[in-house]
Amino acid sequence: MALVADDQAAALRQMAQRRSGAEPPARRAPVIAIASGKGGVGKTTIAVSMGITLARRGLKVALVDADLGLANADLMCGLRPTARLSEAIARVAQGDRVSVDLVRRMSMRGPAGMVVVPGMVGPLRHASSMDARTAVSQTVDLLARAMDVVVVDHGAGLGASVRDGLSRAALPLVVATPDPASLADAYALVKSVRSCASERIPYLLLNRAKDADDARSAHARVAEVAAKFLGCGLPLVGFIPEDPMVQRCSRARRPLAIAAPKSSATRHLNKVVDRLAEEVGPDRSDSDRPVRPRRGLLARLVRDR
Ligand code: ADP
Ligand code: MG
Repeated sequence: MALVADDQAAALRQMAQRRSGAEPPARRAPVIAIASGKGGVGKTTIAVSMGITLARRGLKVALVDADLGLANADLMCGLRPTARLSEAIARVAQGDRVSVDLVRRMSMRGPAGMVVVPGMVGPLRHASSMDARTAVSQTVDLLARAMDVVVVDHGAGLGASVRDGLSRAALPLVVATPDPASLADAYALVKSVRSCASERIPYLLLNRAKDADDARSAHARVAEVAAKFLGCGLPLVGFIPEDPMVQRCSRARRPLAIAAPKSSATRHLNKVVDRLAEEVGPDRSDSDRPVRPRRGLLARLVRDR
């Protein structure tokens, strides 16, 4: 019943828009923001293979490596970047906006046809962390107008850039391992997101769990603390088991989803993507918004790749 009412409301909005001659709002794809409190928990591994899995399902995917200074998604994709996000940061530091042209230049064709924007390597030069944050959000915004989904590898820590990325995304994911230190840092990150954007609750994704019980008990521990001190639940979007294939693939610089599609880690990642795909699928993401056809340079960004 509610669905029928929603459909009717969407139809009425479209009708009103047509009658007033107004352009429908620009299409904006959902953003999956991946971050963690503690580093080295598997964010890049997950971001790369999640992007590939979504691309193989027919979605136009962009992967932005926003791990400032420690970027390595390009390595995991086996790419040799000719341009990096550092250019966008330099542009913003000079007082300009990130342009569509620049996004096109930074965008490489990655595995499974996904668009990869390689991240910044080394320290910020002549730019502030605020410039970096602005450059990331403008780049992600432009890509979100051209793609079906944008996956952002935000890096670790409680910094403003990570917090902002999680609070702005439609699908914020905090990755942690069942290790107590990683869970404590994941909690700290969720707390800091809640303190700046109270309505946003990230999903927890547990990586390197021994098995489902290990993941469940780790989730229960952190969810209990979140309920007690933050007054919110902490939904578990899934878990990925410890799997020696993951490191073998990282050493060979080959994405897990391509080099080990049948591995236990890939199968579990697929289940996580199934859950997220319900959110990012074309049927759901813009169901109540008429889609404006992609035009101009942004359209070419998709077509050329
Ligand atoms: P982050 O981006 O969070 O720093 P990475 O994706 O670079 O983490 O992963 C860090 C290390 O952990 C890599 O060597 C990777 O192969 C390993 N790793 C990640 N996930 C798993 C897993 N499920 N099983 C085994 N090793 C893993
Ligand atoms: Mg990483």
